[in-house]
Amino acid sequence: MGAVSFRKLNKSYGSLRIVKDLDLEIADGEFVVLVGPSGCGKSTTLRMLAGLESITSGEVRIGDTVVNDLQPRQRDIAMVFQDYALYPHKTVRENLGFSLKVRGVPRAEADRLIEEVAAMLGIGHLLDRRPGQLSGGQRQRVAMGRAIVRRPQVFLFDEPLSNLDAQLRGQVRTEIKKLHQALRTTILYVTHDQVEAMTLADRIVILRGGVIEQVGTPDQVYNSPASVFVGGFIGAPAMNFLRGRIEAGQARCADGVTLDLRQVAGVPAEGQEVIIGLRPEHIRAGHGAGVDFAATVQVVEPLGADTLAHVGIGDAVLTARLDPKTHPQTGSRIALSIAPGDLHLFDARTEQALR
Ligand code: ADP
Ligand code: MG
Repeated sequence: MGAVSFRKLNKSYGSLRIVKDLDLEIADGEFVVLVGPSGCGKSTTLRMLAGLESITSGEVRIGDTVVNDLQPRQRDIAMVFQDYALYPHKTVRENLGFSLKVRGVPRAEADRLIEEVAAMLGIGHLLDRRPGQLSGGQRQRVAMGRAIVRRPQVFLFDEPLSNLDAQLRGQVRTEIKKLHQALRTTILYVTHDQVEAMTLADRIVILRGGVIEQVGTPDQVYNSPASVFVGGFIGAPAMNFLRGRIEAGQARCADGVTLDLRQVAGVPAEGQEVIIGLRPEHIRAGHGAGVDFAATVQVVEPLGADTLAHVGIGDAVLTARLDPKTHPQTGSRIALSIAPGDLHLFDARTEQALR
């Protein structure tokens, strides 16, 4: 079974704590994406699972086996790196077949496995080339193929798309998802890109400073972010935030901006300081969605399908993703609104969600 479990996992370099009491259970066959800003401990966590980094304390299991003290090759995992790490002097066939050769898989059987995987990844016509004769996307497919031929219990990916251009990144991303649908092997995938996390994951783990902020399905972390950090990290353009204080059912924000929250469920007690989160795509042109406000259009960015309007409200600037048919005019005053259920409320002190 390819279930993975991290129990009270810690990693320190000297007195510097990098991963802090990480607890996470990954089910067999699940696709879990570990996402967070650069330096938050994603690669370190993955490398502890792979056996490439020692564990300071805690336990890592694959299936029923505690793997803390096993060598990487004893762990039945395969890892795909950002820089592919292919053997430059070997052909694609030799790169794909290397692990099979080491394991003494008979030649005919190895050839069959290599060709099957190559066909799955659409690189069957490249088997006699060397890595230097391939494009970045093709190299990335070879790196994945090399992991797949081994039929491991768990695949580990560390930012595998970072070196590809935007278009290719989208293509290979789709292929990775298809691959998981076909093989149903457990995947732990590390990225700093929230779009990759949202599109690929069964569950997303958001890591910040070596601590898990939230674990949930893409739907859960998008619709019910547990904290200001998660709200701001998941979703693009990023969630807007306003600070305010609750007074008579209203949020009084900086500079006399007031949002009427009387229709919003779970508004905290009088006097509490809150942070209000508004997603750009939830802000609508015109009044009437429930919580109405007015703002001054500062910058307009047409994207074709949508138009981004950066609007000033008091001291704050919010981004609204509007229907291009609304043609917001720079410098004009516009009416905007948001449905009460689309507002996110956070405690200003703890930055945790209030509902
Ligand atoms: P991420 O993959 O999330 O970008 P990493 O897991 O690579 O982050 O690194 C987490 C933190 O650990 C970083 O601040 C990094 O500088 C630090 N770090 C990584 N390796 C070492 C090391 N060998 N010695 C000291 N600090 C390290
Ligand atoms: Mg990393």
